[in-house]
Amino acid sequence: MSEHKYHPESKMMSHGYNPEWSEGAIKCPIFQTSTFVFPNAEAGKAFFEVAAGLREKGQQEKVGLIYSRLNNPDLEILEDRLCLWDEAEACAVFESGMSAISTALMEFLSPGDLLLFSGPVYGGTDHFIRHFLTRFGIQTMEFHADESMEDLILRVREKGLEDRVRMIFLETPANPTNCLYDISLYRKLADHFSTADHRVLVGVDNTYLGPVFQHPLKHGADLVLYSATKYIGGHSDVIAGACLGSKALIQRVKGLRTYFGNMAGPWTGWLLMRSLETLKIRMERQASNAGVLADYLIQHPKIHDVHYLGYLTEADGAQYEIFKKQCLSPGAMISFEVGQTEEEAFAFLNQLKLIKLAVSLGSTESLIQHPASMTHAGVAPEDKIMLGIKDNLIRLSVGVEHPDDLIYDVKQALEKVPISEALTI
Ligand SMILES: *Cc1c(COP(=O)(O)O)cnc(C)c1O
Repeated sequence: MSEHKYHPESKMMSHGYNPEWSEGAIKCPIFQTSTFVFPNAEAGKAFFEVAAGLREKGQQEKVGLIYSRLNNPDLEILEDRLCLWDEAEACAVFESGMSAISTALMEFLSPGDLLLFSGPVYGGTDHFIRHFLTRFGIQTMEFHADESMEDLILRVREKGLEDRVRMIFLETPANPTNCLYDISLYRKLADHFSTADHRVLVGVDNTYLGPVFQHPLKHGADLVLYSATKYIGGHSDVIAGACLGSKALIQRVKGLRTYFGNMAGPWTGWLLMRSLETLKIRMERQASNAGVLADYLIQHPKIHDVHYLGYLTEADGAQYEIFKKQCLSPGAMISFEVGQTEEEAFAFLNQLKLIKLAVSLGSTESLIQHPASMTHAGVAPEDKIMLGIKDNLIRLSVGVEHPDDLIYDVKQALEKVPISEALTI
């Protein structure tokens, strides 16, 4: 008889932890310790042989705990649990999403290499790529969803960098417009630039839909990156990040993490394990709330251009095809335009009572912000126009509140905003 395979949400309360290790405690305690006592000197030597890469770990061998910058039970159990959602072989958790992203990019790129990246990406990632990686001689090239593979290959060729491509970095859906990138298509592009001695890696920032509603590894990505601050943490109370992929790749990421020392601490690990127990139920509720709220927004005369993945239809062509292929839900991020001006957008934001005016996303409480002056303030004016980051654009991350209360809040705020309805046509 084949063994029953539990779903990830059923395993989030127990996977990787045995109560016998901690006096029967049903929950994994916080191992607030910097170092671990070796059972004997021989064991200490054996642990270090593996940790220092002097030999491979034996089949049956359990790698012992050494020091909390290298490993800690709260991190290891959290990593095992995160692997289940993406069906990844391995995971490394970090003290922030930015540390996961920057460490992965630093590990796999060297001077002279070319990084191709989708636009727009998260502001911190954008800055790191453009202003930090380039200082180390790493070459970078941004592309957009409407650029054909042929044109992109041509641009790389014109720069004479065909044999220097080492990584393609995608953020999909993109923030704040929900523009989608086809992961399997960029896998093909990566294969085009790969040779017998190097595989061009595809890394995907999956913060917006993952890890419940999108699984990039299944579409050919090598690395999945998260700001665990967002849906995974989900309560606006912790900053954290994660990188997942094959054992071989994550071993390299963990190697650099050891030297940067940017692993998550035990308390962060514990908080995220707690959050993972409700990850699916939160994300499902947030997605269903978003659907209800989007339906309200789209019919409101003072609102227009609602960007919500649930509204993609065949008429949207490639975007719709990508959505059907790689997204399991429209998620809970909506952006929309209020009136025509920043003044009108601000008037609306300032009237909200339940929905909180704050950046970040994926939390239990609904969060709303104005990308042009907040999260995307650093984007050049001409790029803002190209990316659709207009002065009247609002981004909303829908929480777990009762949908009637969210609609009430939006409705009462819009009623107080002096927006001429004629302008919106
Ligand atoms: C927030 C965010 C990040 C950065 O994560 P931190 O946890 O704030 O360091 C990266 N990518 C995306 C898409 C994000 O939303």
